[in-house]
Amino acid sequence: MASAPRRTKFVLDEDRIPRAWYNVVSDLLAKGIAPAPPLHPGTGQPIGPADLAPIFPMALIMQEVSTDREIEIPDPIREIYQLWRPSPVFRAHRLERELDTPAHIYYKYEGVSAGGSHKPNTAVPQAWFNKQEGVKRLTTETGAGQWGSSLALAGAFFGLEVKVYQVRASYDQKPYRRMLMETYGASVVPSPSDTTEYGRRVLKEMPNTPGSLGIAITEAVEDAVGRDDTKYSLGSVLNHVLLHQTVIGLEAIEQMAMAGEEPDVVIGCVGGGSNFAGMAFPWVGRMLRGEGKYRVVAVEPEAAPSLTKGVYAYDFGDTGMMTPLVKMYTLGSQFIPEPIHAGGLRYHGMAPLVSLLKEHNLIEARSVHQRGCFEAGVQFARTEGILPAPESTHAIRAAVDEALEAKERGESRVILFNLSGHGHFDLVSYEKYMHGSLEDFEYPAERVTEALASLPKVG
Ligand SMILES: *Cc1c(COP(=O)(O)O)cnc(C)c1O
Repeated sequence: MASAPRRTKFVLDEDRIPRAWYNVVSDLLAKGIAPAPPLHPGTGQPIGPADLAPIFPMALIMQEVSTDREIEIPDPIREIYQLWRPSPVFRAHRLERELDTPAHIYYKYEGVSAGGSHKPNTAVPQAWFNKQEGVKRLTTETGAGQWGSSLALAGAFFGLEVKVYQVRASYDQKPYRRMLMETYGASVVPSPSDTTEYGRRVLKEMPNTPGSLGIAITEAVEDAVGRDDTKYSLGSVLNHVLLHQTVIGLEAIEQMAMAGEEPDVVIGCVGGGSNFAGMAFPWVGRMLRGEGKYRVVAVEPEAAPSLTKGVYAYDFGDTGMMTPLVKMYTLGSQFIPEPIHAGGLRYHGMAPLVSLLKEHNLIEARSVHQRGCFEAGVQFARTEGILPAPESTHAIRAAVDEALEAKERGESRVILFNLSGHGHFDLVSYEKYMHGSLEDFEYPAERVTEALASLPKVG
């Protein structure tokens, strides 16, 4: 029997950029699984679209609550997507050989975007829908700076002013991301900052805090609520953000068909859950519709293990307790994760939709230590050539472990993971790893117990 020719890249034409985003809520509802409504932090009652209007434009709010299966992608957004989409899927032949595994490893590479990660997939539509409604200025938080640079880029495309609150630990560790944001025209302050009331309060209580995404979100929301021309933009967690990312999985389904294989396991790293959801939800949709069976695995850091060690409860999305309450896996909104190098994964909660899938056992979760992740990241760089973002190395760690397990059991396995971004701005972290000065943080059980004690009593 003639074997199929070896293929390494699976590339789609620009006209294969999806015409609609995929909303998993529709297929969940068909199975009788309903998302829990967000609640007003004051009254504990479900909130409506009008409650969110001071923070988000109406078009995004309607996407947030939509139950439609598909939401059309406007042409001006598809035109910008053409700058980097469809992104390639690669077969990791060289990594497979290095691991000496019978498994087939595929990865979809989102680092080809101008921002270097999946985040422009949602930054562009968010900026565009804001612009349509006359918004002049956007505020946001950023961890490692990936989201801030993506929104800064989208702001530059549409002529919107962008103000970024960057988590202090990342602001200090990763100065080049700040310079990139400023080059795109955004203004950046370290968070906690002295430019908001909440930031000043935190600085007074904890002058040496490394900051956290939860704190930065409060500052950005406070800023947006205080000005008429300004709205707030979030890089992960929310339904509409996850929705925009589904272009990843929709393309990947076509690309795996080109490869002539179905994945046994689909993997993504999770901070707030958006790149994972973007890859996973279209595959989960196939499962819900009875069109396939996959193991879907979310990988999180041991230092912020919301899915594997948190509780499923209503909690605040931010540390200052300003946001609506959402039902999610959480470590408590007061929990500040250790300053691990995967800044994008330092979040106390998890997207409500990812949490819902976990609660219904439609996905699995595992947590990993950062040194093992960097080890896999370096192995990946030396075989496949791409230097992965520290966040993305969490997915690589899990993919490598799956491949090694397949080898041990002598079984074939098709592994697909999302390589959410490149690590070109994270070389200081790699240097620390290579010099042996990168430490692992144990799961801080006591601090989590303390943080969970202040969960709001609702729901
Ligand atoms: C922000 C980021 C993440 C984590 O955020 P999610 O919303 O969970 O995807 C992961 N990888 C990269 C490269 C990022 O920039």
